[in-house]
Amino acid sequence: MSELSERFDTHDPGEKKVAEKLRCDACPVMCYIAEGRTGACDRYGNFGGRITRCDPLRILEHDRLVPFEGSEWDGNLVNTRRRFVSAMGAGTTYPDYKPAPFIVGQEVEGVDLVTVVTEGIFSYCGVKVKIDTDRHLGPETAVVRAQGEAVGHVTTAEYGSQMLSLGGVHHLTGGSKQEGRVTCDTLLALCNREPVELSIEGGASLVVQAGQPPIIDGKVEQRMRVGCGSATIGMFAKQWSGLVDEVVVVDDHITGVVSEHQAGKVIGWPDTGIRIVGRRSTPGRYFKVAEPGLGWGGTAIEDPLQILGPWNSTKGARPGLSMMMVSTTGEQFAYFELDDELKPVPKPFPERLKKSVELIEQNCEPALCTVLFVGGAGGSLRAGVVENPVNLTRSVQGLQTYVTVGGAPVYVWPGGGITLMVDVTRVPANAFGYVPTPALVAPIEFTLRRDDYLSLGGYAGEIRTVEDVLARGGEYWNARAEEAASPGNPWPPEAQVEVARLARTIR
Ligand code: SF4
Repeated sequence: MSELSERFDTHDPGEKKVAEKLRCDACPVMCYIAEGRTGACDRYGNFGGRITRCDPLRILEHDRLVPFEGSEWDGNLVNTRRRFVSAMGAGTTYPDYKPAPFIVGQEVEGVDLVTVVTEGIFSYCGVKVKIDTDRHLGPETAVVRAQGEAVGHVTTAEYGSQMLSLGGVHHLTGGSKQEGRVTCDTLLALCNREPVELSIEGGASLVVQAGQPPIIDGKVEQRMRVGCGSATIGMFAKQWSGLVDEVVVVDDHITGVVSEHQAGKVIGWPDTGIRIVGRRSTPGRYFKVAEPGLGWGGTAIEDPLQILGPWNSTKGARPGLSMMMVSTTGEQFAYFELDDELKPVPKPFPERLKKSVELIEQNCEPALCTVLFVGGAGGSLRAGVVENPVNLTRSVQGLQTYVTVGGAPVYVWPGGGITLMVDVTRVPANAFGYVPTPALVAPIEFTLRRDDYLSLGGYAGEIRTVEDVLARGGEYWNARAEEAASPGNPWPPEAQVEVARLARTIR
């Protein structure tokens, strides 16, 4: 019995048929399913006395314009015969004594290729979420909750983005049952590009959806920062020269001051006698001007003047001196002039400076949430591909085997195992499923040369053509559906040929 079943209330595999119920063996839960009903995951049902995969097997069609030369033209502008049997709707190999559900042979540019497809059960998977925002979402390592359950944590803040790490073995299988279920629900929704509500301990509430702007404490985030405060000064100091006496770019990471900054110095910007309350790193660059928060430039402040100390008249401060303060996204901006007591007084924002704020805004990219599914194709999954599973790992690491998730290219981590990451927006809709062990189900395909496949100990007798798959389907009796591949994804067999060429060049 697999480790998957250990924490789920399952039972020993009994008869294949009990009264009118059939046993599904596609995961360790081993549901007994009555005629006309589906099992606990809704992926398999008992229809006509057969365990049936409820969704169709999805075959992707990669369009390509018919080339002018080198091939016979059949009269169509678009050649749609570049098919790829994806693992979506394929079914699983679990338990692993049997070959993957589909092993498909195809010849591409004179190269004989094989694609092995299966819906992998990932009980040790997670997602990495990148949220483009200046706002402080919560302290690093803070617990991230969904429906009140811990599903992950806040990890590093990168340039203009806050990273979350959700799922993984400790939340999926290591906590309470409820924690595992909610984690699985959250990962599934995120991978299928649905919105998910998250709350961060000691921080913000979020709505996260792959490919959409984040909603932070009820407010839709619009823009990703152009850079830190110092970088912003570097980019735009020239445009501000002659229009204003001082510019402060307020930022939680590095607040920049143009008169002191190297970028100001090289264009001869005069001193202004300004003082910034914060930790001076290098000239014109300040750390820790305020606590992080949801205010100006990712700080907690709503009044930018809070970060200023008294002005120094011996270093250039004088009545009438003008100053613009702006955030790294250009969303917050204000204009001040010093009065007779060298106190900054808010004034209407001058027309002459509006263009420079717009320039910051124009240089900001739209804020998005990005979701990467991270999974490890474990030994059991690999056993459905080749008889000696470690051979598959080595061939993936050696670029002999090209891995895709629902036809989307993946990043395979160096080091042991087959740990991969895929951008869920490149995977066709509703490609991910779940089983209540709990675990996520993700399509995975391995494409490699037929001779390599056979030398790795592949299941030679199981190789079929695409036409045969379309005509006869597989052991789970489901329909076949042809659909357009996600634009931008390469046709995996051709991508494999490219990878093989590259590998030969490197060798
Ligand atoms: S949960 Fe789904 S895959 Fe697992 S045994 Fe039940 S119907 Fe089959």
